[in-house]
Amino acid sequence: MTDIRTHLIRPAEGIPEGFASLSQGVFHASTVVFPDVASFLRRQAQAHTGYSYGQNGTPTHYALANKLSELEGGAAHTVLVPSGLAAVVLVNSMLLAAGDHVLLPDSIYGPTLEVTQTLFAKWGIRHTVYPNDTGADIAELFEDKTRLVWTESPSSNTLQMQDIPAIVAAAHAHQIKVAMDNTWATALGFRALDAGVDYSVQALTKYVGGHSDLLMGAVSTRDVAAHHALRDTAELLGYYVAADECFLALRGLPTLALRLERQYASALRIASFLQNHAAISQVNYPPRPGDAYHHLWQRDFKLGNGLLSFTLQQNTMQAIENFVASLQLFPLGNSWGGVHSLIAVAPQRAASGWLLRLHVGVEQVDDLLADLAQALAVLEG
Ligand SMILES: *Cc1c(COP(=O)(O)O)cnc(C)c1O
Repeated sequence: MTDIRTHLIRPAEGIPEGFASLSQGVFHASTVVFPDVASFLRRQAQAHTGYSYGQNGTPTHYALANKLSELEGGAAHTVLVPSGLAAVVLVNSMLLAAGDHVLLPDSIYGPTLEVTQTLFAKWGIRHTVYPNDTGADIAELFEDKTRLVWTESPSSNTLQMQDIPAIVAAAHAHQIKVAMDNTWATALGFRALDAGVDYSVQALTKYVGGHSDLLMGAVSTRDVAAHHALRDTAELLGYYVAADECFLALRGLPTLALRLERQYASALRIASFLQNHAAISQVNYPPRPGDAYHHLWQRDFKLGNGLLSFTLQQNTMQAIENFVASLQLFPLGNSWGGVHSLIAVAPQRAASGWLLRLHVGVEQVDDLLADLAQALAVLEG
């Protein structure tokens, strides 16, 4: 028997036989140990699918990545990264080299455009911003070195939709890849890979996490070589997510459908209430019949969620401050996708004035409607 002080340093037992749980075990590791020199020297060969170093994943990481791959469907493979924005950076870093050209819609998530205009531009990658409503005619913007088209539908402030199948068809006819930021719908709402998208990006921070307490992103693809290249690139960038955060994301998954169904049903009621209110000028929520993008939502999407935006008739900062201050159940804050209702304020990109973005949580919808009604009444009074 070694000295107890030495013994304390040895790992404790693994998973004891006879124990089973409905919860995912959480495994932490930087170092992974090997049974012999031969397997130690072979560890790089394991880097894509096995255990070689903490950064390549523990069973907790693989459990989450595999569940997300199942969610995306059709033998997808998934890489986990520290945030939704990191997922965007990963796709660009894997695919693009100096001199290459990338296309982004004008409705894209702000930081995605910003990183393209700053870091990637500095590294010699050129970009063109295209109008969100561009469909098959996107081909007119292709250049010799165009390698990638980014899409996002609906966009997260203006809720504008894109014709993803038309863009995919045009891009693939020119051997150009398509990435989609599918954070709004998740694969439960829109099957991006089935629609031909090459890289499906998710900010797990939003609906998968679902409780406003973690940041994480994922890139899923059905192309095994691309998946390996994404993993290698993530390793070179030093991207790593903590096992505890993976546990939280895994804990979000069983209720993902329940939460989305509830938030979608509540948001539909709230969207039509707002649309019919005299103090509101416009509501953006594609699942609502009458929305400017409803036809695309109806054609391509299977499920809505809780994120919508609107403008006040009285589109002044003073009116917005009064309205937001009167709300009791919608705290002011960024991000969305959790169980809590939220409100955020954003400048309108195309027009002057302000956009109010509402995230509808899982509270009782009658309480939410009453709260919005009293805050709008304050504006009229
Ligand atoms: C929030 C968000 C992201 C970024 O996710 P983070 O985890 O906050 O970096 C990317 N795309 C969309 C559409 C988002 O809403």
